[in-house]
Amino acid sequence: MNTFARILITALLSAVLFTCAKNPVTGKNQLMLVSEKWELDIGKQYYSPMRQSQGGDYTVDPAVEIYVREVGNKLASVSDRKLPYEFNVINDSTPNAWALPGGKISINRGLLVELESEAELAAVLGHEVVHAAARHGASAQTRGVGAQIATIGAVVGLSGKIGAQGAQLLGAGAAQLVNQSYGRKAERESDEFGMLYMKRAGYDVQGAVGLQQKFVKLSRSRGKTSRFEQLFSSHPSSDARVSHNRETAARLGTGGEVGADRYKQKMSRMLKAKPAYDFYDKAKAVFKEGNTREASSLLKKAIRLEPREALFHSAMGDISSETNNHSAAIKHYNKAISLNKQFYYPFLKRGQASFMSKRYASAEKDLNQSLAMLPTGAAHNLLGNISSTKNNRAGAMKHYKEAIRYGGEDAKAAYSKLLKIDLGSNPGEYIQAAAGLTAKGTLGIKLSNPTPENIQGIVYSITSRSNGKSQRGSFNGVLPGGKSTVVDTGLSIAKSELSDVAVQVTKARLAR
Ligand SMILES: [Zn+2]
Repeated sequence: MNTFARILITALLSAVLFTCAKNPVTGKNQLMLVSEKWELDIGKQYYSPMRQSQGGDYTVDPAVEIYVREVGNKLASVSDRKLPYEFNVINDSTPNAWALPGGKISINRGLLVELESEAELAAVLGHEVVHAAARHGASAQTRGVGAQIATIGAVVGLSGKIGAQGAQLLGAGAAQLVNQSYGRKAERESDEFGMLYMKRAGYDVQGAVGLQQKFVKLSRSRGKTSRFEQLFSSHPSSDARVSHNRETAARLGTGGEVGADRYKQKMSRMLKAKPAYDFYDKAKAVFKEGNTREASSLLKKAIRLEPREALFHSAMGDISSETNNHSAAIKHYNKAISLNKQFYYPFLKRGQASFMSKRYASAEKDLNQSLAMLPTGAAHNLLGNISSTKNNRAGAMKHYKEAIRYGGEDAKAAYSKLLKIDLGSNPGEYIQAAAGLTAKGTLGIKLSNPTPENIQGIVYSITSRSNGKSQRGSFNGVLPGGKSTVVDTGLSIAKSELSDVAVQVTKARLAR
């Protein structure tokens, strides 16, 4: 289980309240294990990092986000539950939308370009408003969905390596809250009450019918491997949903605002730039396959069509980084940052390029700035390296230990460096020792090496807790990373005496 999931479950356990609460939307009673405070905290804490880890906000045309907020707030204001609702547009081509508990809602650029009217947008946002208002995320936690691990699909940046790790820590907990299927009943509830909110806000509920029809068509034509996979896995589209929406529409009555022309006008820049993002997405794919030349030519086409998109310049920087041209990379990241200062990725990557060019002061500044937006193992690992160059042992250790929490390649690198600094001084922190009984009835010392490095020269002390007598022992070999071994001391001991024995590793060093 990763750190986020642990934090989430700890938060859960500390606030366990078995209450049978009235669903604020449906008015029905439901079992609730989490408090409203939990919902608000989750929303507040993870809304921004979730967006960062999925591509950041779409900032090229600020009018788009203003418009989405306008429509979202109309629906929020007629909902059955007061929450600190927020609406943002994530700069990612995957068609998706999600709601975190507490009313924090996002819609991807990739879904906005598929919609054709304001009523369809209202259908998507109304559906998500209900997920938050009706506590679907909270009741999913109550059902135990929270223990499952899901990963974030979207990966930021051209190489994806660094972005993926930022997402990792957040991933399990927050991603499962937004990408899980809340269950058929919750989806039905969201469709139905979402349409009611549309009606209350003055929209033509036919928009929700049309939207489902479109999704059914898309899911048939594009198959399961398409970029719609994420959306359809949490929101299975079906003829049943279409007909359920049709019934709801008949009940609520049609008529009201459609806003097809207004929608197209508000989205015109984004719609016009769609081919640019298609080039960018293709560039990411070919870059992953190692074709930097093709990736670069695709990105140039993308920039020609939409010169104000920071992601495109950032991706150019990634290509320069990959070929170790750090000064060129810095120029591309400069451009990206000048266009969008609200996204962690180009700060992280410019920090990395500056570090590689030994410009430590600028690197440190950028890396800290990236951390403020999204904590990553990569940034902590590099900051650890910078502290090391300044002989700041405590600072280096602090960052390496942080980096380890995030897992992946950066964690491995950080662990190795942490061991170089600290293994000699604190061997007992890294090599675990425990007393046990061997098959022969003698005292066995189990030594475990949970680090990624091979370790040798392990010396330990065996102390009697009752009389304080102590003796030394050692393991004469290399203990590989991730492995454990048992040393038979040859001392005969009764099982009842084991609890009197304390073992502590006193010496160890990295194997050459
Ligand atoms: Zn849903």
